[in-house]
Parts: sequence; C-alpha cells; structure tokens
Amino acid sequence: MERVNAEFLKKIKTLGAFDINACFSCGNCTAICPLSDEKNSFPRKMIRYSLLGLEEKIITSPDPWLCYYCGECTETCPREADPGGLMMALRRFATTKYDFTGISPLIYLSKTFKFIATLVLMLLTVALVYFLHGPIITSEVKLATFAPVHITEIGDLVILFLLGSILLINIYRMYRFIVLQEGKSRAKIPLKVYIKEFINILPLNFFTQLKFKFCENKKYWITHLIIVYGYGMAFILVVFLLRWFQTDEFYPFMHPIRILGYFSAIALLYGVAYMSIGRIKHRKEPVWKFSHSTDWMFLILLFLTTLTGLLVDVFKYLHLPMATYITYTIHLAVVTPLLVLEVPFAKWSHLAYRPFAIYFARLKEYTEKVGSSEVSTASKSKEAEM
Ligand code: SF4
Ligand code: SF4
Repeated sequence: MERVNAEFLKKIKTLGAFDINACFSCGNCTAICPLSDEKNSFPRKMIRYSLLGLEEKIITSPDPWLCYYCGECTETCPREADPGGLMMALRRFATTKYDFTGISPLIYLSKTFKFIATLVLMLLTVALVYFLHGPIITSEVKLATFAPVHITEIGDLVILFLLGSILLINIYRMYRFIVLQEGKSRAKIPLKVYIKEFINILPLNFFTQLKFKFCENKKYWITHLIIVYGYGMAFILVVFLLRWFQTDEFYPFMHPIRILGYFSAIALLYGVAYMSIGRIKHRKEPVWKFSHSTDWMFLILLFLTTLTGLLVDVFKYLHLPMATYITYTIHLAVVTPLLVLEVPFAKWSHLAYRPFAIYFARLKEYTEKVGSSEVSTASKSKEAEM
C-alpha cells in the first residue's frame, strides 16, 4: 500500500506546492508538457513521488530542473492541482538538499533568517565602506578616489572565489545525487563522454536556455534571456572592466562602457518590472499563482541594486559628490546580500543548476544504457554456460 508522507507534503507546500492532494493522476499534465519525453517523463511522476514522500527518488532525478515553468500543465489540470508550481517547489527542495552549508534550507524555510541575514550583510558592507573608503573629495565627484578600484577589485575576487567555490561544491553534490546516485551507480563513464557531453550541452543551454523555446509562451523565454544577459553584462563590467567602469573620468554619453552599463540596467529593470507586475496581478498567469518570499526578496534586491547603480551614474554626471558616494555605499549594501544569499543558496543558483541538470541527465542516461547492456551480456553468458 502506498504510504503518504505528510511531513514531506507539508515541506513542499511551504516551498510553493499548491494542492497536489487534489491530483487524480489523469496524466494530462505530462501529455501537455512540451519538455517531457519518454526518458524524462514529468510532472505526473514527480507528483506521485511527492504524494508518497519518496524524497530519494526526487533528489536523484534531474526532472525538476528539466521543467522551465511555462505553466502549460497547470493551465490544463482539471483538478487545479498546480503541477507547474509543484515542479518549482521541488527545485527549491532540491536546492536545499544540494547545499552542504545548511544555509539554503534556512533561506527557504525561515523568513526571520532571511531578514536578519540580509540586514547583517548590509550593515557589514556599510561598515567595510566606512573603514576602507579613500579620501572624500567634496569639490568634485571623485568616485574612484572615494572607493579605490584595487580595494573593490579585491572584494570582487574574494566574493567571486567564495561564492563560486560553494556553488561548485553544491553542483558536485548534485552530480553525486543524480549521476552516481550516492555511490549506487556502477557503470563507469569514460572521460571522453564527460567532455563531449559537457561541450555539447553546457554552453548552449546556459547561454540560450534553448529548451525554453519549445514552450508555447515565447515571452517567458525572451524575458528570461534578457535578464540573463543583463546579469552577464553587469558581471563583466564589475569583475573584468571595473577599472574603466568605476572611474573618476567623465565619459561622453555614447561611450562603450556607459552603453554597456545602460544596456545591463535597462535589461534588468525590464525583467524585474515584467516579473513583479506578473506576480502582483498573478492570478491570470499560471506561472505566478504562488510567490515564495524568496521570489520577492530576489526581485526587490535586484530592483534596488539596478536603481542605485543607475543613480550613482546620474549623481556623478550631475556633479553631486556626496549624493554619489552615499548612493554608491547603498548600492554595495544592497548588492552584497543579493550575491551572497542568492547565488549559491537560492534563486540565482538555478542558472547553474539547470544546464548542469541537463548534462547530468545525459550522463545518467549513459550509465543506464551501459548498465542494462552489461546486465544483458552477463545473462547471455550465464545462459551459454548452462
Ligand atoms: S493534470 Fe492534474 S490531476 Fe491530472 S495528473 Fe496532472 S496534476 Fe494530476
Ligand atoms: S511548467 Fe511547463 S515545462 Fe514545467 S512541467 Fe509544466 S508544462 Fe512542463
């Protein structure tokens, strides 16, 4: 008899699943899903696993990440069980399981932790600026004098190294769950298969989110891409081009660095506006039926980061020194929790997890194929011996 794990259901409801108890297993959602196929069939299978509390089956499957949350299944469900929302909740659940630090479950399950962690990181950043800033020149705007580039660069690199390392360890844990199945998988994968699939899958799916285009509503795909390129551009400016981006020089309006900065800001503001308006009016769109508190935290921090970044530029070009320095400090205070909490532990991590899940799904397929051919060869030789 199938056993319902009420605790698991309670947990994924906190993470955004709506009412999967209402599901009567008709299979419409799987039939309509443009991304489900024979090898990776979802969301119905995931609903069954969730109802039975089969956490291990869920955590060792790449399926939650193969869903791009287009909402077509939710729209079709005759029981209004919101299968798309369940897939989203399972991605949040998987994120909490991959994270080795234990911070991700706290972010997803405790609003108090989220609030306090955000506040502490903001205050810490303000304190760092207070102790490390350079001379405050008030006769004219000297941003790179107030915030020496070499110090900001060191800060950038430290954060990049720490967050990148945590994210990589979490991705390795994802690999252990999905491909190695925590040591259960016996079929060895040759190095050339790892490399070939990595090259075939990772860059394409990371830079184009290609599978998204199979969903009916192309607007989600395009908006997603705009946001990804907005982040990407901000990342390049702050990490690789900081010496030219955070400068005392006054560039003309059409200078390439300013154009890149404005492109990034407009892309991010558009994405934030699109998603916030969608979530505020949410009832019409199946993908925004439910907003987790982390969704709002992400949107608010991203909006404030972009807005303060733009204001620094405006105040600088209006020749307002103190307004520039104060806004720059606020900008750093907002960007720190956005990066520290979101990149390895929450919303932002899906940008890395999803392409890796597609890669791991392919590797898993390989181990299953090799495993089953080994089994059939072994049984054939047994038969021959008999
Ligand atoms: S369409 Fe709805 S009721 Fe049917 S299997 Fe999917 S979630 Fe369950
Ligand atoms: S939200 Fe879209 S991609 Fe995800 S399971 Fe439903 S139909 Fe498939």
